[in-house]
Amino acid sequence: MFVERHTLATVGVRHAPQVGRILCYHSVEQPEWGVNDLTVERFRQQLDAAFAAGFTFVPASQIAREGGSADQLAITFDDGALSVLTVAAPILRSYDIPFSAFVVSLWCGGEGGPGPTSTMRWDDVIRLAELGAEIGNHSASHADFADLNDDEIADQIGGARDAIERHTGIRTTSFAIPFGQSGNWPPQASVIGRELGYDLIYAQAQQTRPPGTIARTFVTHFDRPRIFRAVLRGRYDRWEEWF
Ligand SMILES: [Zn+2]
Repeated sequence: MFVERHTLATVGVRHAPQVGRILCYHSVEQPEWGVNDLTVERFRQQLDAAFAAGFTFVPASQIAREGGSADQLAITFDDGALSVLTVAAPILRSYDIPFSAFVVSLWCGGEGGPGPTSTMRWDDVIRLAELGAEIGNHSASHADFADLNDDEIADQIGGARDAIERHTGIRTTSFAIPFGQSGNWPPQASVIGRELGYDLIYAQAQQTRPPGTIARTFVTHFDRPRIFRAVLRGRYDRWEEWF
C-alpha cells in the first residue's frame, strides 16, 4: 500500500487528458528488426493515409503535456535503430513532421543489443538531434523493469540519462518504457523515474498502461492501410505488442 500511495501522490502531477494519438515505430527498411520494421513504401503509405484522413503531426511531448486533439498525431521511435537517422528522418523532414527517438545508452556505445551496426552510435544521435528530433531515454540496456530491484531501476534510468548527456550534451526529460507493456513497469519505477527528472514516461496501450504513463500505439510490419486506419480509430487501444 505504501508504494501505491506514494506512486499516486507522485504521478499526481497530472497532464491534460490525452486525446491526440502518439504512434510508436522502431525502424524503416531495416529488416533485421522483424515485426517492428516497415518498408519505406509502407511508412510513406501510412503518413499519406494520416494526412488524407485529416490528421496533423505535432511533437509527442505536446500531446503528452497538453493532451492534444483528436486530429493530432505524433511519431516516436524506440530503440535507436540506425534507419531512424538514415531512412526515416529524411522522409519525415520532407513532410515537415516532428518526431522523437528514444535511445538505449549501452547500444549507442556499441555494447549488446541487436548489434553495433543496427543501432545509432553517439555521433548518429547527435546528428539526429541536429535534424530536429527530440531525444529521449529508453534505459541503459533495454531491461525488463519487472525483473529489477529499486537500485537496478535507478541505475537503468539514471545511468542512461547521464550517459546520453555525457556523450551528446542532451539532457533528456522523457523516458520510454522498454517493451512498454503494463507488465514491464512496476509502480515504484514511476516514482524513481520522476525523482530522476522524467515527468514524461511513455508506455503502450491507452487502456492498459500503468497509472501516470503516456499512451502510445505501436505500429508493426503488418499494418497495411486497412489495419493502419483501424489503428488511427483506436481499435488497438487495448492491445500490447509483446516484442
Ligand atoms: Zn524498446
